[in-house]
Amino acid sequence: MSSIPCIPENRPHILVLGMGGTIAGLAPNPGESPLQYQAGQIGVDSLLSQVQSVIPPDIKLVSRQLANINSRNLTDAHLGELGLAVKEALADPSVRGIVITHGTDTIEETGLFLQLSCGKLAHTQSKRVILTGAMLPSNVPGADGPSNLLDALRWASTSIENCPGGIYAVMGGRGCMAMDLAKRHATSLNAPLQDSPSSKVNLINPSWLSGVKAVQAAWNEDLPIPQEGEWPWVEILTSHAGAHPETVNQWLKSEVQGLVIAGSGQGGFHDAWAQPLSKAMEQGIALVRTTRTGAGATLANIPEKDAPGCRASGVLTGPRARIGLQLALNAAKQANLVGKPLTWQDFFARIADLPEFR
Ligand code: ASP
Repeated sequence: MSSIPCIPENRPHILVLGMGGTIAGLAPNPGESPLQYQAGQIGVDSLLSQVQSVIPPDIKLVSRQLANINSRNLTDAHLGELGLAVKEALADPSVRGIVITHGTDTIEETGLFLQLSCGKLAHTQSKRVILTGAMLPSNVPGADGPSNLLDALRWASTSIENCPGGIYAVMGGRGCMAMDLAKRHATSLNAPLQDSPSSKVNLINPSWLSGVKAVQAAWNEDLPIPQEGEWPWVEILTSHAGAHPETVNQWLKSEVQGLVIAGSGQGGFHDAWAQPLSKAMEQGIALVRTTRTGAGATLANIPEKDAPGCRASGVLTGPRARIGLQLALNAAKQANLVGKPLTWQDFFARIADLPEFR
């Protein structure tokens, strides 16, 4: 762990956790090809030194590099390590707030994971955890990383009236709950990233805050983080024209514990999958249906009645439903170990039925 500037770690500070991403990326020819670059090339200390001269002197920082990856390569183990680091920091009285620099490709997964595993703790400890990233690598003209990082540091450290502790994200001057941040454009430099209402970081508006508070009131218990090597195996399968039963049948021979079906339209899937998916449920594979459309909710028993053992995802997208199902399967397993007869559906319902502020 290192410090920028160097301060003893028991003094009040903001903890900055580095995960990599484009914000830490370098382009070999920054002037000519800004989109051709390697993510996760420079350390979080270097990112902080780029903004050090404009950081208000009362903000003391401690940094820790947890990973330096292209977030398309994010693993269960990375998430587990990040979740434990965030929990530890939330419990540490010298940490005032936490900023996480992360790649945007899978920030969607990490945002929901942190909400479900640390959201309640952040709320009760009145600390803000802020995820941020960038669309441009660090060495190209007009790189957006420094301003995003600065916004995140300010938001994590300032006491903003009424803005509770929780898991948030900031990009392009706007903030949202981290579970609502997702990359929604492959190449655009100002890819719209928020799925939901967002607020200008320096001008938190009351209607946005009331949405945040409604979600937080409904999220009354964090889910356990799976132990390393014990993350349930869950895959996403996309239904499409010309789908083959073999696509599902292959999984019946594997150790997979859950399948998220990214269906068409309202989350329906190709008839060719009906029989193999019934077999999957008979084998005890957990099934969640979502929509591949990228927007809108997937509702129970629409367009057809759901088989028992299949759960609609609500507003959760495929990547989020996958994280939610992993944590729900793990939570049910932990509950059963201590004699509580709860199912993955019990836990998944808590996630998918959060108020629709998103
Ligand atoms: N591929 C990069 C990553 O997710 C994209 C980014 O950070 O914007 O690490």
